[in-house]
Amino acid sequence: MIDSHIHIGQFYNDYYDFNRIFDIVLNAEVDKIIYSSTTSCIKNIKYDQIYKEIESALALFSNNIAIPLLWYVPGYINQGIKIDIEMKELKYGGFKLHPLANFWDFENNIKHMQILHEIFDYANNRNMLIKIHTGESGVDRPNRFDKFISEYRNVKIILAHCRPVDETVRMMRKYPNVFGDTAFATSERIAYVKNAGFGERLVFGTDFPITYYYYKKNGLGLKNQYYKDLEAIKLIRPASTFEGI
Ligand SMILES: [Zn+2]
Repeated sequence: MIDSHIHIGQFYNDYYDFNRIFDIVLNAEVDKIIYSSTTSCIKNIKYDQIYKEIESALALFSNNIAIPLLWYVPGYINQGIKIDIEMKELKYGGFKLHPLANFWDFENNIKHMQILHEIFDYANNRNMLIKIHTGESGVDRPNRFDKFISEYRNVKIILAHCRPVDETVRMMRKYPNVFGDTAFATSERIAYVKNAGFGERLVFGTDFPITYYYYKKNGLGLKNQYYKDLEAIKLIRPASTFEGI
């Protein structure tokens, strides 16, 4: 089983070391991880720092087991980060985009638009996935990326969290390559997707250890929080056929 939504790295005041996180996840019923580093959210982050984290993780966990996503932030444009070079350098399996945590302005900023075309084109030519954070805020609505999704039909788009759910379902109806993940998704939201006939497009993902970060006041501890997160899989069994990348 794949957990398609795992994080390592800095998250506000906490640091989640890949060793500790992967150890917990791979000792549960999960045998494959798709992950990215939340260190990417630090203001003015230098890609070098992320590179070191992912490089260390890949040294101990091969990309057959733990597949990193290149979490591309607009600040990398001026750092001269080249998509094709970095994707090969660390054997990334796809991309992560977070239009709420990172300021994407591709409607007005031509450089933002160009780099997104490069990212989608790269993923499209290799049948890779792009995981896009979604939410209700306006800047992170799924249909903001409609023109990219419609142009690059070989990309497996995973709409993280399936928010808002009606719009997520509309995107699934329009495009067969659109999936949604279960991270922080309520059982009502999951049921909405299933009732619309798209249960097979639900991808299991927990957002661990971000779940721990938000629920740690409950005192479950890191490992037990993951076992609790795993219960979300029951909501999509046996419909999901997602086999990853
Ligand atoms: Zn996440």
